[in-house]
Amino acid sequence: MEELNKIKQELERTKLELGILYEISNAMRTTLKLDEILYIILTGVTAHIGLGFNRASLFLMNEKDGLIEGKMGIGPENWEEANRAWTRIEMEKMDLDDLINAFKTSNTVMESGFNRLIRHIKVSLKEKDNLLVLAALEGMPLHLTRETIQNYKNTQLIQMLKSEELVLIPLKAKDKVNGIIVADNFITKEPITKDDLRMLIMLANQAGLAIENSQLYEKTVMLSNMDSLTELWNHGYFQFLLQSELDKAKATSTPLTLMMVDIDDFKIYNDILGHQAGDRILKDLAGLLKNLSRKMDYVCRYGGEEFTIILPATEKKEAFQIAERLRLDIEKHPFAHEEVLPHKKLTVSLGLASFPEDGSSPSELIRASDKTLYQAKDKGKNITCC
Ligand code: GH3
Ligand code: MG
Ligand code: MG
Repeated sequence: MEELNKIKQELERTKLELGILYEISNAMRTTLKLDEILYIILTGVTAHIGLGFNRASLFLMNEKDGLIEGKMGIGPENWEEANRAWTRIEMEKMDLDDLINAFKTSNTVMESGFNRLIRHIKVSLKEKDNLLVLAALEGMPLHLTRETIQNYKNTQLIQMLKSEELVLIPLKAKDKVNGIIVADNFITKEPITKDDLRMLIMLANQAGLAIENSQLYEKTVMLSNMDSLTELWNHGYFQFLLQSELDKAKATSTPLTLMMVDIDDFKIYNDILGHQAGDRILKDLAGLLKNLSRKMDYVCRYGGEEFTIILPATEKKEAFQIAERLRLDIEKHPFAHEEVLPHKKLTVSLGLASFPEDGSSPSELIRASDKTLYQAKDKGKNITCC
């Protein structure tokens, strides 16, 4: 009879666990946005209606730079914060869907202290004794109990997290580790059980695939907005960016400047050296424009040998200085075979137009910057006009 009760209990628990996993994997199917996917995974790990860990964080592999990077962390920093968050979830009877909707509409998670701490962590894959690297290379779950964690208490991760017990679970897609979940019970100090671990591993299997799908999707979107020769934003995406940046500028009453850049006498270069040599120049110049621009600016290929740069929150006077610096740096840059050009140097002419004074719609600004560009050509090229 006792045996039967035990089996019944186990069955109930399994039913509950499957229900939780089912809900989380359903939620993961509702979006392809990476940050939403990460949030759903971590909510599944931390929610009381989920796996119920106090804290969870997610790290992703960055193969290109050979790094493991902290992407998101969910969890309170202390009892006070814990009580506040958990009481609210309890009072408002928030289920997984409610939590996900709350994430989409507020910044609370992204601005939390724990999230900031996690997003700061970047570890080189060469640091073989780092716990994250260890978990990634082994591809196996790592459970640091109260005893074994002592051996790692001087490592960066444990020093930062101050955990007394911790699990690291690698996420995989097609047998390749693409991320790591780190979870603990920092506040309640409840021991991590075999059942907790088993659930986490099952969740991780789904999570790895969901992350890969989302990354592929984001890459596809990115490629479809990019010009393949120069790797700058293409014309279609430029139009979208200009409209949305203008909307922002209007909403916040900030200026915006559009810069148009056109290579001088490029036809001559092409005629003498051929189209392919011309294409190499376009690539070289695109890289230069990108490197010389600020992080906030959008460098685009407008078409042919014309480029546009959207400078948000920048008035004309400041944009003029930026444009002149660009022009002089381009003049100085050694381009291949530029000696065939009339002035033996590859140069560009630039035209500027600003919101609000020159126009308030994308087409007005484009027309205005086109006009100033032609003035620059008229005045003898290799100059900036506004
Ligand atoms: P200007 O100083 O007045 O700008 O003279 P330009 O010769 O540069 O004339 P324009 O701006 O009209 O440039 C058109 C030329 O640019 C035609 C073509 O030879 C070249 N060009 C346009 N698109 C491409 C491209 O994708 N690849 C290459 N290699 N050349 C291009
Ligand atoms: Mg042109
Ligand atoms: Mg030209």
